[in-house]
Amino acid sequence: MSEFTTADYITEAKRALNNPILQSALADLQERFGRGTALAYRNLPEGPDLRLKAHDIRLKTIENLDVVLETLVENVRKNGGHVFFADDADAALDYCLATAHRHKVKLAVKGKSMVSEEIGLNAALIGAGIEVAETDLGEYIIQLAGERPSHIIAPAIHKSRKDIGKLFAEKIRIPYTDDPPSLTRAARKALRQKFLAAGMGFSGCNIACAETGHIVTVSNEGNIRMSTTMPKVHVAIMGMERVAARLEDHDILLRLLCRGAAAQNMGTYASYIGGPRYSQQIDGPDEFHLVILDNGRSRILADEEFREMLCCIRCAACLNVCPVYGKIGGHSYGHPYSGPVGAVVMPLLAGINRFKDLCQGETLCGACQDACPVNIDLPRMLLALRAKLADGDANWHVSRADIPEKGIYTLWSWIIQNRGLYDLFLRLAALGQNFLPKNKDMLRRLPPPMSGWTRGRDIQPLAEKSFMDRWRSGDIDQVKNPGIED
Ligand code: SF4
Repeated sequence: MSEFTTADYITEAKRALNNPILQSALADLQERFGRGTALAYRNLPEGPDLRLKAHDIRLKTIENLDVVLETLVENVRKNGGHVFFADDADAALDYCLATAHRHKVKLAVKGKSMVSEEIGLNAALIGAGIEVAETDLGEYIIQLAGERPSHIIAPAIHKSRKDIGKLFAEKIRIPYTDDPPSLTRAARKALRQKFLAAGMGFSGCNIACAETGHIVTVSNEGNIRMSTTMPKVHVAIMGMERVAARLEDHDILLRLLCRGAAAQNMGTYASYIGGPRYSQQIDGPDEFHLVILDNGRSRILADEEFREMLCCIRCAACLNVCPVYGKIGGHSYGHPYSGPVGAVVMPLLAGINRFKDLCQGETLCGACQDACPVNIDLPRMLLALRAKLADGDANWHVSRADIPEKGIYTLWSWIIQNRGLYDLFLRLAALGQNFLPKNKDMLRRLPPPMSGWTRGRDIQPLAEKSFMDRWRSGDIDQVKNPGIED
């Protein structure tokens, strides 16, 4: 996984803020999906409380994950599929490459899969001399552009129609057009050839069902169905948490997933894949492989404070309401998992110090939890990550991120717990602010170490006389609420 520094975070965020096309696309996305999802939950036959039930279902599954996964494996094997447990990204890639080499695969097609982004599947296949074609339209666009996805379900949200028209003219040599149906037709024509020629198809897994031993993939384009049925070999990769124990749980999660992801009652194509085709079936692969990936998830499972994060079904509803994601976009997060889910899951999977900016950059407004179809308490975990950065944590190999900052907050907590000291501090600060530069009635610049606050905004000055001083001197009696009679 490539390094991602604080400077990268700031640079990418500034770039996004200065990109008017991206700003308008993000505003549109949040307007449509953010509002639409809330309405879709309200219109559920069971009402929005189904989210709370889904949370319980997910948590119960996660707490019994060993047993649930054992059942899943047993039933996938009964259906004729192969199962491989991958401890980490390298193990998963080795298995995928070995399977591809065994079948002498030269070309693979791929349905959209975030977990394959997590392990760097495309780079590994290309490095082994295997061509790989993304088949989701958004993923296809960003693959042609050589970029990373900027949203979990709308990976090319940062591209305008004109960008895509130019890209297609350059890369697939069609006359320039920015007409969406024409662009879609061109992509479909190019991808049909890939589907027909591919020796192997990769997919993710939205949710697996242990009881039946099948996986489900959901798409609106039908490309995953073609990626998983046309090639002779299908390899599905899933994070080890993406499983429901029973079919009735699976049904609830699938309905909520579609509402959370795209405010739809159900995605256009929901494929239930339970192994290779039977001998009498015309369509389907001869071999079905399920790769179940750990890659740091066991460590999350072992920690009660963060276990809830494994309830996530990667629907992206939290991105669609997050005020931070809505401004800085997905590339600023430095990894395919962006928004509030990325701000929690990336530090946990890849290092809390390494991805510290993500959890520190969120606002804790709580919109993500309200939008989450499984009601995950993301703000609680963002705070827990910040606490680890403030205090350090040997279990998670976290070193204190900023010792001077910790010192300042310790001093501040000491001051605000001592009335006399706090009043003295306010009086000194009210005097001191007279020497600071002003813009009308606002302070333009605070001195270090608070100067960062005023780099991009002015700040309200302290009142000359504090509320407590006014209260003590009797001034406060003169301030009457006009709506309240004596
Ligand atoms: S945290 Fe919730 S809203 Fe965000 S991706 Fe996961 S399931 Fe969806």
